[in-house]
Amino acid sequence: MYDHPYDPLPIGVLVLDGQMRIREWNRWLAEHTGIPETRAVSQRLEDLFPGFRNPRFQMAVDLVLRNGGPQILSQALHRYLIPIDLPHLARHGFGLMRQHVHIEAYHWRGEHLAVVSVIDVTGSVLRTEALTDVAQRLEHDVNRDPLTGLFNRRFMWEWLDHQQRQAQRHHYPIAAMMLDVDHFKSINDRHGHPVGDRVLWDLARQLVIWVRESDIVVRYGGEEFLILLPCCDQALSSEVAERIVRQTRQSGLGGLPIGAVTCSIGVALFETDHPLPPADLLNLADRRLYLAKQAGRDRVVTSG
Ligand code: GH3
Ligand code: MG
Ligand code: MG
Repeated sequence: MYDHPYDPLPIGVLVLDGQMRIREWNRWLAEHTGIPETRAVSQRLEDLFPGFRNPRFQMAVDLVLRNGGPQILSQALHRYLIPIDLPHLARHGFGLMRQHVHIEAYHWRGEHLAVVSVIDVTGSVLRTEALTDVAQRLEHDVNRDPLTGLFNRRFMWEWLDHQQRQAQRHHYPIAAMMLDVDHFKSINDRHGHPVGDRVLWDLARQLVIWVRESDIVVRYGGEEFLILLPCCDQALSSEVAERIVRQTRQSGLGGLPIGAVTCSIGVALFETDHPLPPADLLNLADRRLYLAKQAGRDRVVTSG
């Protein structure tokens, strides 16, 4: 048996008068807050919940009482109205129940009242956040190389396609640097595969630090990396490539002695007055990388 028609509802219902005093407090609210109806009625929310201060709610109730139209406080913006502890969800960072709040005018015996319904949306917020999390991880994984965390070729093609159109429109060059670790097979052979992996991982981390944030670093193959640098012309690209070759030699990657790990780089430029299709740009960078290897490794080649 229920005392009031609001009681069987699976949501919180409270009715406020023009002085923001509680007229009705349904069973759901009593059960979830531990405050019985007898103690809630004729109080204000701030009397029941120390620290309760909600100017947006106050304004919404005023508007409803004056204009009669409904008002909503969505959980996305306001999170909750009535503080209700959810200790079992604290480990998800949800100490308090998330609530969708609806305020509606109610005229009763010449009085203007506001009916406030409080809906628990914690479950759906949790599910949405979990799904967003999964979607972000999938998006990350699909574009990344698992060993180094760098971008993979799939992402690179998309990026190049988009960037080349941007570059054409705004007239800027893009430098492509094909980098390959020198004698990597012998690093593996002499120090073991895990040390080889460590060299690749260290190099990947350093490359990201050595270039600008607007540049992208791609794991192109086993010990081959591709760096794409928008707004990077001939002079700047050879300067950056030379610096990377020097830093690689001087960094002691993989915990190996300085000079044990070196790399070679081939550089090609996408220029708007002479645009190369993406595949041709990478082939040209690759050909120059081959020339750098032939010329003795640990160096940069930018022409030929
Ligand atoms: P070069 O200076 O001509 O580039 O010689 P290199 O030894 O670096 O080139 P090569 O192509 O002969 O050997 C590349 C080696 O890289 C062979 C392969 O086993 C190794 N490799 C490829 N991917 C990985 C990886 O993920 N981890 C490790 N540890 N080794 C890898
Ligand atoms: Mg190599
Ligand atoms: Mg190679």
